Amino acid sequence: MKVTVLGYWGGYPWNNEGTSSYLLESEGFSLLIDAGSSTLNVLQEHLDPLTLDAVIISHYHHDHIADLGVLQYYRQLHNSTVTPKLLPIYGHMEDAYFSSLSLPDVSKGIGYQEHDRLVIGPFRLTFLRTVHPVVCFAMRIEEIKTGKVLVYTADSGYLASFNQFVANADILIADTYLFKGNEHHHAHFTSHEVGLMAAIGDVKQLILSHLAQDKDLTKLLEEAKEASGSKVSVCLAEKNLTVTI
Ligand SMILES: [Zn+2]
Ligand SMILES: [Zn+2]
Repeated sequence: MKVTVLGYWGGYPWNNEGTSSYLLESEGFSLLIDAGSSTLNVLQEHLDPLTLDAVIISHYHHDHIADLGVLQYYRQLHNSTVTPKLLPIYGHMEDAYFSSLSLPDVSKGIGYQEHDRLVIGPFRLTFLRTVHPVVCFAMRIEEIKTGKVLVYTADSGYLASFNQFVANADILIADTYLFKGNEHHHAHFTSHEVGLMAAIGDVKQLILSHLAQDKDLTKLLEEAKEASGSKVSVCLAEKNLTVTI
């Protein structure tokens, strides 16, 4: 499978680049994970949004859904002679926003729950409720055919059960909004926490994302590397960063 970072800033777009959004592709199937601001523009560099197969949303904070409505309009108003299929948009149902995932003839909201094992195209997904001011779910996504695993923390503060949830992941995309020294925050991980989590979980590659604007990201990277040790490959998310596993 191939994962592409479309947007990676936390909270709001910055310097012409957007907030949380990732494209996951396997066997001709494309899954959009969160739909932050700028998603639609960057997505068009990779595929025709009419051909997108499914979307999954971790939670309904604006920086994760800002482009969801315009993605629906894109598919509603397009000039293509080919009518796209109804787009499945997966989201949790513990918020009234869930009803916005459905738009007649365009998209259909499909609810997931904490203990679900969901199959979406070539992927199997499980979830972990995170530490965040609103209901939010991390997701562990396994490519069924190969057993390769991507874990996306979504937004979360420290939670011990993440150590097991990320175990042996090939790629971990982690909310790293905070610098070392701010541990046990109510909403976001620190560089130190995600590095440690990756080391304990034997993660192969750690991608630091949901980054803070106008901060020393080299320092953030160094802090995460220090905590993760030399066995984990660590990098900062950037627009159009692509990893194939
Ligand atoms: Zn966020
Ligand atoms: Zn959030």
